[in-house]
Amino acid sequence: MMLAKSGCKVTLLERRDRPGGRTSSLGDDQYTFDLGPTFFLYPRVLQEIFQFCGYNLFKEVPMKRLDPQYRIQFESGGRIDATPDPVAMREQIASLNPADADGFDAFIAENRQKLKAFQPILEQPFNSWKDVLRPHLLKVLPLLKPHQSVETYLKRFFSDPRVRIAFCFQSKYLGMSPFQCPSLFSILSFLEYEFGVYHPIGGCNSVTQVMARIATELGVDIRYNEPVKSFEYRGRRPVRAFTEQGEYRGDAFVVNADFAQFMSRAIPNALRQRWTDRKLEKKKFSCSTYMMYLGVRKQFDLPHHTIHISDEYRRNLTDIEEDFVIPESPSFYVQNASVTDPSLAPEGRSTLYLLAPVSHQHPNIDWARESASFREKFLDRIRLAGFDLDPSDIEYEKIVTPADWEHEHQIYRGATFNLAHGLTQMLHLRPRNRFEDLEGVYLAGGGTHPGSGLPVIFESSRITSNLLLEDLGMEPIPAQVGSHKLGSESPELMPA
Ligand SMILES: Cc1cc2nc3c(=O)[nH]c(=O)nc-3n(C[C@H](O)[C@H](O)[C@H](O)COP(=O)(O)OP(=O)(O)OC[C@H]3O[C@@H](n4cnc5c(N)ncnc54)[C@H](O)[C@@H]3O)c2cc1C
Repeated sequence: MMLAKSGCKVTLLERRDRPGGRTSSLGDDQYTFDLGPTFFLYPRVLQEIFQFCGYNLFKEVPMKRLDPQYRIQFESGGRIDATPDPVAMREQIASLNPADADGFDAFIAENRQKLKAFQPILEQPFNSWKDVLRPHLLKVLPLLKPHQSVETYLKRFFSDPRVRIAFCFQSKYLGMSPFQCPSLFSILSFLEYEFGVYHPIGGCNSVTQVMARIATELGVDIRYNEPVKSFEYRGRRPVRAFTEQGEYRGDAFVVNADFAQFMSRAIPNALRQRWTDRKLEKKKFSCSTYMMYLGVRKQFDLPHHTIHISDEYRRNLTDIEEDFVIPESPSFYVQNASVTDPSLAPEGRSTLYLLAPVSHQHPNIDWARESASFREKFLDRIRLAGFDLDPSDIEYEKIVTPADWEHEHQIYRGATFNLAHGLTQMLHLRPRNRFEDLEGVYLAGGGTHPGSGLPVIFESSRITSNLLLEDLGMEPIPAQVGSHKLGSESPELMPA
């Protein structure tokens, strides 16, 4: 969208039959599901991109701000219905542990400062290690406490481990354990309370469908079912992309496919220096997810999002990230979106989206063998979250295992949240937006800077577009930070 608006002639080659990648839809003529993202957070970045292109995100995609944002419940006892209303939120925390209620305001205040300090870093490219020495970054480093985990950081505000989990399970959005994830990612839960958790009507996939429509209106030639297989090179510069159907010349190429998968499949190893196959193999990758998408002949008077924390939460994380085995009693997430959005299922019926974090692909686990028994276990466990589901009520069912993420969706090791976000794989140490191993190649998506998750992925596309425009001697996209106030565009977006 941004490149076309800036005057580039853009062809988009997409291997699947629809737009959106992980943010696409699935289902049948009755039931619609999001394949991946279900939490739409921090719409500001995308709204700025839409504004630049002459559109209004909130007019194009109606959204509902959720209240409660989600329910987080603990197998060991207790739950929080997370709400953006600070008074009610303090009460929710007090119901678990009265001593922790005051920590909420302090947490919000400190993280507001943290985001303000960190925002410019998320919005700039990291082209070399020297960029880490920028005076601004050096100034904010102490605030970021880079070597502290987000869970340890939260001890300053909350004494109850359950309350801490309620404010750090969000590191799972990056596919990481909160006991490993760097403390700066405490801004994830802050973003939810400060700016809201949204449900785009039709699901997050309606955002990417609208983007595909707008891109076409701006002149982008979108070609579905055309995976890029290889390139012709002049030195280190690709000049032509090949698909089975044709060949495409370009002055510049943007790669949004899963970084590690695309590099190891479509770019010859000999042309890569920093990101060779061997080096990729040694990198740390995020967890994967076991998914069930169920169309059910029944409705559930339960929240839109429920996160169930196993009483073996820590053990779960070790199973997933260190031992690469299937957890005995997995934590899980259920989205009951038709409670908010009747467009997703016929009247009286519901869509249930079930997600359990599991290890990325590893020789320890053969999903062709394990999937059936995991399904049974999962259906049994969702009763703990109040979903009293009789399997005979299931009318539509689709399962996606880590093996499917790898083979069907072409994601390296099925690691749904890309390269992990430890300190050794962030900023200049992550694959760079102006790709360092080739000339005229640019990266966007969760495998590059700033990282995984939709808001930062949209930011990566803006950073990347600007680098490409600069290299082609074209006008950059004007900075729009702070040019509008979130929530002012649509009554739906006002605080719930
Ligand atoms: C189950 C799940 C739940 C998630 N939940 C959330 C959430 O609630 N909120 C959130 O913000 N984030 C969430 N995420 C993370 C977020 O979805 C992803 O990080 C993001 O969608 C990845 O975007 P991307 O552009 O990097 O990759 P993708 O969306 O995978 O896009 C890559 C595109 O490239 C195409 N492609 C691949 N290879 C080729 C090729 N050779 N030629 C042509 N095209 C190719 C693919 O088909 C795809 O369309 C979730 C992810 C998953 C999997």
